[in-house]
Amino acid sequence: MLTTIAAFDRLGEENAFAVLARATALAAQGRDIINLGIGQPDFKTPPHIVEAAVKALRDGHHGYTPANGLLPAREAVCRRTLAMTGAEVSPDNVMITPGGKPAMYAAITLFGEPGVDILYPDPGFPIYRSMIDYTGARAIPVPMREENGFAFSAEETLSLITPETRLLILNSPANPTGGITPRAEIEKLVAGLADHPQVAILSDEIYDVMTYDGESHTSLLAFPELRDRLIVLNGWSKTWAMTGWRLGWSIWPDSLIDLVRKLAVNCWSCVNAPAQWAGIAAIDGPQDAVDDMLVAFDRRRLLVTDLLNGLPGVSCIVPKGAFYAFPNISGTGWKAKPLATAILDDVGVALIGGPDFGEYGEGYLRVSCASSDENIEKAVSRMGEFLARRR
Ligand code: PLP
Repeated sequence: MLTTIAAFDRLGEENAFAVLARATALAAQGRDIINLGIGQPDFKTPPHIVEAAVKALRDGHHGYTPANGLLPAREAVCRRTLAMTGAEVSPDNVMITPGGKPAMYAAITLFGEPGVDILYPDPGFPIYRSMIDYTGARAIPVPMREENGFAFSAEETLSLITPETRLLILNSPANPTGGITPRAEIEKLVAGLADHPQVAILSDEIYDVMTYDGESHTSLLAFPELRDRLIVLNGWSKTWAMTGWRLGWSIWPDSLIDLVRKLAVNCWSCVNAPAQWAGIAAIDGPQDAVDDMLVAFDRRRLLVTDLLNGLPGVSCIVPKGAFYAFPNISGTGWKAKPLATAILDDVGVALIGGPDFGEYGEGYLRVSCASSDENIEKAVSRMGEFLARRR
């Protein structure tokens, strides 16, 4: 990969940031804006985690840490991984990064180059596609279909693998759809991957605790046969409402971990020390605040789905995970992005158009549940008023 200006020019954006800027500008003009475009929990980081960072600062943790992260932070990640997935992971295979995104960058740039294929979920987190384009690799979308609960289909995913495929990106529970890929489907996929040893897997499990309706998250770490080609991305941003702290972790095979550590040495040295101490407290401390947040997200996803299904031309399946709903708006007669823009400008509700998450996102909007029940009710009522007037 040549990091030329042309390569940087191929980088995409996360439109959620642009929508946030537009919503903020409108609010500054005095408009009453409800932001359901946001991809971060509307909760504060639990106080005991904040206190751990303050204590770390008071205790003099002001210097560089090892590039791969403090050993106690990596050990905490191993404890949590064992508890969540049953998988034994060595702290030597854990990398602490400033948020989960750098692990995405590392994985995609490690495998991406002109002439190879990388498979990614579509609709999916927009940075996957952006990074693949940056490397010059061919970006091959794996469609996440509404009729399949926006989950991966093992059969369709395997059918897209070619001898040129180097990386398969998985994400469950998923942004932007809330889809969860069932364990049976993951087992089928893993079985099929045995025939494609040239394919590494990046499993983005950042929403792993956010599952509802008795659904459970299946980590790819549950499959030892994949371990020498599996990268798992996770982090503190969503689970402990710590997006602004920039704190993530990832788990790497022996063959790759040192390359990623070197990338850290070259790019960011290490994650700031107090954040890492806060991260340890997050994993080891009480989880009541996380539980309360999950109760709120669970209630709101049912509320928003119910309300959206009452709008003309809109239908919405119940999301099983994460904190987003992904209503189908094809019955409104609108394309998704103009609809999202018109709804923001006209009735002051910020949403993201499905095409911002990929070509298969046309016909959908992403509605975030990271706002109060009252705001969700008000926002959907405004959307209804808009659609009644401008269909
Ligand atoms: N992966 C997914 C699917 C996400 O939705 C996000 C954030 O929105 C991230 C990764 C990156 O999170 P962070 O870099 O804040 O840890």
